[in-house]
Order: sequence, then structure tokens, then C-alpha cells
Amino acid sequence: MKPLNIHFDAYPIALVLGVLLALAAIAIAWRRRQAPGALPLLIFSAASAWWMVCSLLWRVVGTGADPMIWFKLIFVGVVLIAPAFLAFALQYTNRGHWLTRRIIALLAIEPVLFNVAVWTDSYHGLVSASWRGRGYGEFVGGTVFWIHSFYSYALIGFAHIVLIQCFLRAPPIYRRQSGMIIGGALVPLFGNALTIFHLSPLPGGDLTPFGLVVSSAVISTALFRRGLLDLVPIARDAVVERMHDGVLVLDSQNRLVDLNPAARTILGIAHLDVLGKPAAVAMAAWHGYSPDYLSMADFHDEVLIGNDRCVDLRISALSSKRTRLGGRLMVLRDITPLRQASAALQDANSRLRQQLIEIEVMQDLLKEQAIRDSLTGLYNRRFLEETLMRELGQSTRTHDPVSVVLIDLDHFKSINDTYGHGAGDLLLQTVGELLRSSCRGGDAACRFGGEEFVVLLPGTSFSVALQRADQVRQEFMALRVPFGEFKLHATFSAGVATFPRHGEDFASLLNAADIALYAAKKEGRNRVLGAQEIPV
Ligand code: GH3
Ligand code: MG
Ligand code: MG
Repeated sequence: MKPLNIHFDAYPIALVLGVLLALAAIAIAWRRRQAPGALPLLIFSAASAWWMVCSLLWRVVGTGADPMIWFKLIFVGVVLIAPAFLAFALQYTNRGHWLTRRIIALLAIEPVLFNVAVWTDSYHGLVSASWRGRGYGEFVGGTVFWIHSFYSYALIGFAHIVLIQCFLRAPPIYRRQSGMIIGGALVPLFGNALTIFHLSPLPGGDLTPFGLVVSSAVISTALFRRGLLDLVPIARDAVVERMHDGVLVLDSQNRLVDLNPAARTILGIAHLDVLGKPAAVAMAAWHGYSPDYLSMADFHDEVLIGNDRCVDLRISALSSKRTRLGGRLMVLRDITPLRQASAALQDANSRLRQQLIEIEVMQDLLKEQAIRDSLTGLYNRRFLEETLMRELGQSTRTHDPVSVVLIDLDHFKSINDTYGHGAGDLLLQTVGELLRSSCRGGDAACRFGGEEFVVLLPGTSFSVALQRADQVRQEFMALRVPFGEFKLHATFSAGVATFPRHGEDFASLLNAADIALYAAKKEGRNRVLGAQEIPV
């Protein structure tokens, strides 16, 4: 048993302070354990604390039966330091996804093997060589110890490369933080190197755990002082990982270096193994991807993805003052539902327009039907009344004459009786065609009712109206209308009256024409008679 040191010894006191500092760092990291990087940092601090506690016990309690016991116990924690630091560096620099189960398993191999070597050292001495637990300052490492040291330095060196890269790329507000982390991480390396090469100013005391504690304190301060650890990766998680817009980042060689879950969903990229691949390969799942996207600095358009998905694609060049082109950022917004809604709206609009056209056509048809007689196709009585009133009003102003011809078929009843109603209808249609064809611009031929017709002749004088009516009468008389085996033949009588000579309104004018018609019937039918002058 080694006698207890009674004189003032700074080393154990420094160890106690170091343990307390490490415990504080552990507590802080534990509180922020959700933040990326916090868990590896916690392991890192815990391993440093373990190292110090073991060193303290070694100094205070001594080595006991097994001179190697503290040395062995120290290494249970020490082996975790380099892998934990690497894990921290990866998570801090947004490469947390590199830490797959396989990589973690690979990283666990060396610590396990080295511990086996440490605990079996008494059989082979490959770790402690000839030292075998004598004084701290006399330590000479064996082959396995040096392999372990180089391996650990390789991991830490790699972690530093990653951190330095991050430092160089970080925006100014994070640069101080990553600078502090790198600086903090160098402290234990320095301490370890001094100890290993016997250059420690504290003879008999290992400087490495102090360096580690200083390091974890500096890193914790750098990270948690302003909650930047929470901010940086969590902001990326919250903003980029969870955003609905797809985000892809290409580096300056057009390799896909980052993409968020939304981008994978939009583009149908199933695996993350596309990361690091050239854009043309990585975008294989993107139907409609064009290599042209990479030839322009900025691009914004709606593009089709596959057959039925439409995205709003925005490509911006990532450049800084120093680098001309640092890669590209692609932001994809799925606007398919928007497009579908607007297409549906356009559809509904065009359907409505079509329906409106149909309604207008039907309205015109209804309007036409409302003023037409269905058997002959001539205007009906309602139209006649409206038009005649209008013409009379206009004629009052212009002093133009308006003539009306009232026609009634002769002995029409007997035609019906002899040949049937169908023959009568056919004759009515024949008269209709004849009257329509005799009309000039502005004239209107109407079926007044039954077998009576009125032809309205605006601007036509009484004498001209008489002539034209008689002309039609003669034409009708000459007609022989085939009806089955028969040839139908009929005549009509007509009375002509002219405004304002024979009547000053609709009723009196038609009445005058009717009186003339009655006279024509009375005189033997098949004739046209003019109305009598209104007695003054
Ligand atoms: P008149 O020479 O005196 O006029 O002798 P008429 O036989 O023509 O006598 P009236 O004018 O009184 O007869 C009208 C006939 O017209 C009665 C009716 O059967 C017939 N008629 C009325 N409307 C229609 C129709 O739409 N179709 C057919 N086929 N006949 C009709
Ligand atoms: Mg009649
Ligand atoms: Mg008649």
C-alpha cells in the first residue's frame, strides 16, 4: 500500500475540481439531451469525469493488490472519448445521419478489443509494455497502446476536419461557436501529447483528463450559452425537415448533398443513398427532370412531375462573396391540388358558359315560339298586335301609310268536310308560304286565327296594297295543291285598309279591313276589296 500524501498536493484537488466541472457539464448536456450533439457530448464529459474519478482514487487509495487496476478502470471510460467526440462532431455538423447502426457497431469494435487487451495485459504486456502499473511518470506504452492512441487520434483528427470544414462554411454568427469548439477540443490533445511524451509540467499527473474537462466545459459554453446547439440543428429539423416544400441542395459539382423528407415524397425518392451522387443519377426517380436545370443560375417555373403532378420549382445559385458558385438550392412546392382546383374551376366555368349559351338559344327559341304560329310558321296574332301598334305610332310621326290586308279562305269549311282536316291544314300551310314569299322587307305576314290571315305592309299605300293583295289572290287561285290522289284548289277573299285613311288605331283599322272583307265575300268571294273612307 502506498503511503498517503500528507503534504499539499495540487493534483488531487485539481482532480476534484475537474470532476465537479465535468459533472456540471454532464448535467447541462443531460438537460439538453434532445439537442443533436448533446448525447455524445454527455458521454464525452462522463468519460472524462470517469477518468478523473479513477485518477483521484488511484492517487488517494493507491493501487492495492493489482497495480494495474486503476489503469484498467480508467480505460473503460477513455475508449469512449474519441468515438463520442467524432459522433458529436458529426451531429453538430448536420451529419448525424452518418451514424447508422452499422457505423456505431464498427466504432464499438476498437474500444471493446482495446479493453480486452488492457484487462489481459498481465498475460502479454502489449498495452503497458514493461511499465505494469508502476509510477505514472514512468509509463511506457506497448504496441497495442500506441495502436489505440493512433486510432483515437485518427478519429479525433477526422472529427476536427469535419469541424474545421463546418467552421469555414459557417455563417459569421456560428463561426465563433465552431471556433470555440475546435479550440476547446484541442486542449486535451495538447495535454495528452504532453503526458504521453513525458513533457507534463505536473510530474506524476496526467494532463489529459484536465484537458478533457476544460474541453467539455468550453464546448458546453460555446453550445449552450446562446442555445445555439438547440438553434442550429433544431432549426434545420424544424424548418427544413418538417416543411411542406421540398428542398434539395446540390454542391458545386452538381452532386446532391441534402434533401428533406418533403423533397423525397414529392420526387418519389425512396432511399437516402442518393446523397453524394451526381444530380443526373440522384434524380432518376424525378420524372421530367431536365439537365437544363443545372445550366441556369436561377430558374422559376411550374413543371410537371410524372403525368399528373405539378410543382412550382425554384432553383437558386448558392454563392457567397468569396465563392462564385457554391452549388444550387432547389425548392419544390407541390401545387397539384391548386392546379386541380383551378382546372375544376375552369371546367365548371366553361360548363356554365355552355349552359348560358344553351339558355340563350332556348330563350330565343321560346321568344320565337311565342310570336310564331306552329302550323304555318307565320307570326301570330300577338305579334301582329304589338307590331301594328308600333308601326302606327311610328307612322303617326313620319306620316307614312301603313296598310293591312285581312284574308279569309273561301268555303274552307267544305274543304275540311270534303277532304278532311289534313287537307285544310295543308292549304293553310300553302297560304302561309305564299304570303311569306310575297312579303318585302318590313312586311309581316300573320295567321290571325283559324283560316284568317293579316299581312302588315308598313310604308305601303292603299292602292299598292290593293294591287299586291290581288296579285297574291291570283297566284293562290292558280295553285293546285297535291293531296294524295287529289289536287286541292281554293280561293280567298281579302279586305284592305290603310292607316290613317280607314282607321286611326289597331281596332278601327282592322275593323275597316274586316268590313271590306265581308263585302268581298258578299260580292261573290275570290276578290280583294278596299275599305271605305271614314266619313268626315
Ligand atoms: P266563308 O267563305 O264564308 O268564309 O266560308 P267558310 O267555310 O270558310 O266559313 P268560315 O270562315 O266560318 O269557316 C272557318 C272554318 O275553318 C271552320 C273550321 O273548321 C276551319 N278551320 C279553322 N281553323 C282550322 C285549322 O286550323 N285547320 C283546319 N283544317 N280547318 C280550320
Ligand atoms: Mg273565317
Ligand atoms: Mg272562310
